[in-house]
Amino acid sequence: MEDCIFCKIIKGDIPCFKVYEDHRVLAFADVNPISDGHTLIIPKAHAENIWEISGEDLTAIHLASKKVADAINDVFNPAGVAVLQLNGRGVNQVVMHYHLHLIPRVSEGPELKMTAWELIPGDMDAIKLTGEKIAAAMAS
Ligand SMILES: [Zn+2]
Repeated sequence: MEDCIFCKIIKGDIPCFKVYEDHRVLAFADVNPISDGHTLIIPKAHAENIWEISGEDLTAIHLASKKVADAINDVFNPAGVAVLQLNGRGVNQVVMHYHLHLIPRVSEGPELKMTAWELIPGDMDAIKLTGEKIAAAMAS
């Protein structure tokens, strides 16, 4: 896609700090890292989000995420790794080309903001109703 910064990275028009590549995916260091080791994995075929990406590319990205996470473990021995993927400007997707974030929390490092939510039990009737709506949509 012409104006897509990630497509330009894939074409080599914009440099990146490459971590991993195969015929379907490219992984590289995020230049706006939330933590040391923050890595992105993208499909080589442009797809904006989870609704557009092919099943094959989605599978390839998640298989690559295990390889990258293994390497992050070797390098950082982190306290944990958050795997995060955003779909739509409403949830702060900035580059409109599907990307999976791998964000390690280095041992002794600060807690990651996006993993710091509090568990508060919800309304069970509302949860049940919502689950039923989604299940019905999947069945149709
Ligand atoms: Zn793109």
